[in-house]
Amino acid sequence: MLKLIANRFALGAAFLFLATLSLSHPIFAQGHLAVIIDDIGYNLALGKRTVDLSGDFTLAVLPFTPHGIELAERAHRRGKEIMLHAPMSNRHNYPLGRGGLISGMQRAEFLAVLRQNIANVPHIKGVNNHMGSLLTEQVEPMRWLMEELKNRQLYFVDSRTSAQTQALIMAEKIQLPSRRRDVFLDDERSSSKIKYQLIRALKLARQRGSAIAIGHPYPETLAELERLQPLLEQYDVQLVKASQLMAPSSAIQQSNACIAPPINLWPQVWVPIDPFSLDLVLKSLKVAH
Ligand SMILES: [Zn+2]
Repeated sequence: MLKLIANRFALGAAFLFLATLSLSHPIFAQGHLAVIIDDIGYNLALGKRTVDLSGDFTLAVLPFTPHGIELAERAHRRGKEIMLHAPMSNRHNYPLGRGGLISGMQRAEFLAVLRQNIANVPHIKGVNNHMGSLLTEQVEPMRWLMEELKNRQLYFVDSRTSAQTQALIMAEKIQLPSRRRDVFLDDERSSSKIKYQLIRALKLARQRGSAIAIGHPYPETLAELERLQPLLEQYDVQLVKASQLMAPSSAIQQSNACIAPPINLWPQVWVPIDPFSLDLVLKSLKVAH
């Protein structure tokens, strides 16, 4: 009888522990989605509207743009995450503007431009590529880029403007926290298509545990993001900053090898939220379920 009571007490305590965690840490949502808004810096009004979005959106700011610094400062004050949106040469000869990283640059010049870009945008936590269908296919510049980001403890998101991109291969070689973009929200600027892509991203986040979507500060995109909350609830997905979804590839592999940690280890797994290890935490918890 005493044993039965003790068992029930233990069960109750475990339940209470889990309930408390799930209330105070919405990490128990089924999926996690990061939405990065690219090309911030040229348009002040649309940039401000992006900053005003409610929730953990991430803003990727172009260097040396008329309003880039002001918008990055403003977004930072509002608790948004900032990335450098680094212009890279593309296969269509689209102009890159100042700060372009160009195919054919020597290492010293490449690093000088990259460092100027990093210095120009305040509060950055990571970098993604603006265009780059040509440069991201090239091994050496991608290696220089990833080594520099690693030295500065910045993560990289591959916007994937080329199917032959070498960016993540080079990032993974040196275990730089990095990931690829899963969904482009607004290749087509119609409300119905943007909503369709948003739902694709939410379903992906739920199926895989997490996903990264990239959009632009178009009025049509912002209008859909301004009414995102009910969709997040419907799909049981939590909006997170891009840094919360980063993990070195080796950490992901280790987490696959880790089977069902005992429940008394959960607090240790949980407590130190290093954003770069969030994938590891999520995967551990998922296995335990
Ligand atoms: Zn861009």
